[in-house]
This record gives sequence, C-alpha cells and structure tokens, in this order.
Amino acid sequence: MTAQTVASAAYVVAALLFILALAGLSRHETARAGNTFGIAGMAIALISTLVLALSGGIGGLGLGLLVAGVVIGAAVGLFRASRVPMTGMPELIALFHSFVGLAAVLVGWNGYLEVEAAGGGGLAADLLGIHRGEVAIGVFIGAVTFTGSIVAWGKLNGRFNSKPLVLPGKNALNLGSLVVFAGLTVWFVIDPTLTALVVITVIALLLGVHLVASIGGGDMPVVVSMLNSYSGWAAAASGFLLGNDLLIITGALVGSSGAYLSYIMCKAMNRSFISVIAGGFGIEAPSGDAKDYGEHREVNAEGAAALLSTASNVVITPGYGMAVAQAQYPVAELTRALRDKGVNVRFGIHPVAGRLPGHMNVLLAEAKVPYDIVLEMDEINDDFPDTDVVLVIGANDTVNPAATDEPNSPIAGMPVLKVWEAGNVIVFKRSMAAGYAGVQNPLFFRENSQMLFGDARDRVEEIVKAL
Ligand code: NDP
Repeated sequence: MTAQTVASAAYVVAALLFILALAGLSRHETARAGNTFGIAGMAIALISTLVLALSGGIGGLGLGLLVAGVVIGAAVGLFRASRVPMTGMPELIALFHSFVGLAAVLVGWNGYLEVEAAGGGGLAADLLGIHRGEVAIGVFIGAVTFTGSIVAWGKLNGRFNSKPLVLPGKNALNLGSLVVFAGLTVWFVIDPTLTALVVITVIALLLGVHLVASIGGGDMPVVVSMLNSYSGWAAAASGFLLGNDLLIITGALVGSSGAYLSYIMCKAMNRSFISVIAGGFGIEAPSGDAKDYGEHREVNAEGAAALLSTASNVVITPGYGMAVAQAQYPVAELTRALRDKGVNVRFGIHPVAGRLPGHMNVLLAEAKVPYDIVLEMDEINDDFPDTDVVLVIGANDTVNPAATDEPNSPIAGMPVLKVWEAGNVIVFKRSMAAGYAGVQNPLFFRENSQMLFGDARDRVEEIVKAL
C-alpha cells in the first residue's frame, strides 16, 4: 500500500468526521460531540498530509519550514483562543477568516511562480489553461476574503465605524470590479502575464474592503457568515491548485454551509440575500436623525424584585450586554430562584442577538440554564401579550419596535422580539446609548417600560439578593 493510498483513505475518514461535526454543531445537545468530531478530523488531516509530504521526499529546509509553520500556527491559535473572551469571539473568527484568505492568495501566487512564470512547470499543455483559471479565481476569492475579513474584524471590535460607507456609485463600483475581474481572468488564461495577476490581486483587495465597509451594523452577522463561506471557497480553490482532495471537500463544506447560514440569517432578519452579499446593494445610508420619543422611567433592583415576585409568567430576552457583563451566571441563578417560587420563566433568543450566531445559547448553556426553557424568537413571539414581566438583559436592536413601526428606520423589516406587548418590560443597560446598529430604541420610552441602569451582572445579583 502506498502512502498516497493511505492518505486518500485517511482523507475520506477526515471528510466524514467534518460532516459529522457540522451535523453535531447544529443542536445544543450534540454540539460538544460535533466539536470533538471536527478536532479529530483536523488531526487526521494534518497527520496524513505530513506523512504524505514525508513520503514525497520532503526534507531539509522544506520539512523545517513545514514543521515551523505548524508549530507557530498552533501556538498562535492556542494563545489567542485561550485568551479570547466570549464577546471577542466574532472578531477572532473574522481574523481567522482573513488568514484563510491570505493563504489562498499565497497559494495562488505560488502556483503562478511554479507553473506560469516557470514556462509551464512541466504541466501538460491542455491543463495549463485550467491552471491559470484556478490561479486567477483562487487569488481573487482569497484577496476579497482577506481584506473583507479585516474590515469586518475592525467593525466588530469598534476600530472602524459600523455605519455603512456610501461612496458615489457604489453598486457600479462593485459590479464594475466583477466585470473587470472576468475580463482580466480571460486575459490571464490566454496570456499569463504578471501584470494581469497583480491587477487581479489589487482589484480583489479593494473590492473586499469596499464590500464589507458598505454594509451597516445591522447586517454584519450575515457578513461574518458570508466571509466564512468565502473563506471556504478560497480554501477549495487552493485545494484545486495543490491537488489536495481534502482541502477541496473541506472548503466546499465550509463554503456551502456558510452560504446556507447566511441565507437563513437573511430570512430571519428579512434582508435581501443578494443585497447583503453584494455589499449592501441598493441599500441607502440611514439618515441618522435623532427623534424625540419623550421621557423614560427608571426602576431600581428592589423595585424590579418586587415586580417579579408578583409575576407568574416571565420572559428573559438576553443580548450582547449580557455577554459583556458576563451576567449569564446570576441570570441562571435568578431563573432558578423564580422557578422555585413556581414562576414560569422562559428565554426568548433572537437569531442575531449578541455578536455571533448562537452566542446567547452558548452563554446560557455555560451557566446551565435548561435547554427546554430557551426558545427561539418565532417560538415565543406570540406569547408576549400573556407575559407579566420581560427582562431585557443587555439587548437593544433585537427588541427595537422601530423595526416594525418605522418604515424609514435602518433596521426596518428586521423581525424583532415583541417584548413591548408584555405587561411590564425592564431594560437592563448602562445608559440610553444605541445598540450595535446605531439606532435609537423607542422601547425605552414606552409606558410599560422601565430602565434599570448599571452593569447587568451587578443589577441581576442585587435582584437575586432582594428576592
Ligand atoms: P445590541 O448590540 O443592539 O445592544 C447591546 C446593549 O447592551 C447596548 O445597548 C449596551 O447599552 C448594553 N450593554 C453593554 N454592556 C453592558 C453591560 N455591561 N451591562 C448592561 N448592558 C450592557 O445587542 P443585541 O444583542 O440586541 O443585538 C445584536 C446586534 O449585533 C444586532 O444589531 C446584530 O445585527 C449585531 N450583530 C450580531 C451578530 C450575530 O451574529 N449575532 C454579529 C455581528 C453583529 P449600554 O452601552 O447603554 O450599556
């Protein structure tokens, strides 16, 4: 049996493990197992690739570079992942996507240097055209992913403005870049000059910046999963160039699951899929006008505890602020205390609450909140009129009635948790500031709403004590 046969068999096993990982990650109960399948698949993939390289006669400098790359990569990955707080996860993921994009660009350029710039590199004449196409497409997708992910990273951690950038003729710029890329690819396939590849790379780098910069805060979740998808396609393109079947399969899995996730999120947010992936195509910048909604009311922890002690139905809608405050532990304690008193407590989770899909579910699972009382937005939205008290813990955009009431709002049309239909709403946050999308929230000024200012963790702990 040759090393190639063993590696191919190992690749099939790894690919199956990746599919099992995706299946596992789709449900709370099986997510841990899904993660383990993914780790096992990646370990098999890495070991078999190393064995294949060794049997192919790699040695000396090549082997040293390979081992150094793996060791440095693993050390950086371990260091960053072990230190990142849950709230910094989306930025870290965006940064990791940028590495995949950069790797695809480097693989593409390497392919060019080894083949096209080396007079064909020993490749059969009828395969040369295909190779050139692969180089151009791989470099293009990789470069868009690279700069797009860096802009997403900056928008998510607040280094860049989360408002959409609106350049004059932005749609024409995006479409024009695609047309120019198609033309350059044809040129490169016919005549693989260095100039064509440089221009393709530069256009793709600029397009990545523009596509993501044009998208506003409210649509960022879709962008992150879209970049995830692009990084998959970039990896698949590298797989074709390197003749690595597993990279093609893995890239296609990531690419298609990321695209599907983006589609589901667009549906959940009532956004046009095409408009979001095309860099906010057709979306105008929000006017940013501040409206006067009147006065807000305030409550303290004792007042909130008093209200809760008379309630029989309570819904908790957490958001990004719960993650910032790490309030999930006292929230779980409060839930236990209320349930012990016979109160029906449930959670309503918006599909884009927090800063990454499933963010709230992960935090609540971490704090051991039972899965069966954690409901999706669609499962709980009709129950608010029968709810006595809603606790909005660090959520803002996801409970904003402007999405349904104000057609000119930048988040108009986005389905939200209709918390204002409940008897009483208590909003936990530190100030009257806007949420991620930068939009004012009229919920805070409704007659049945009261603001409980301060760090969500401290305030919930005080309520637990008062109860
Ligand atoms: P928002 O980001 O709209 O609002 C969070 C609120 O939490 C803020 O208004 C803030 O108010 C408050 N807050 C922050 N820190 C604390 C704290 N320590 N204690 C109490 N409150 C705090 O949250 P949502 O979850 O409602 O909405 C998510 C937003 O993020 C949406 O716009 C979504 O599109 C976007 N997004 C989602 C992603 C995803 O995949 N889920 C990815 C990227 C973006 P204050 O400062 O006054 O305390």
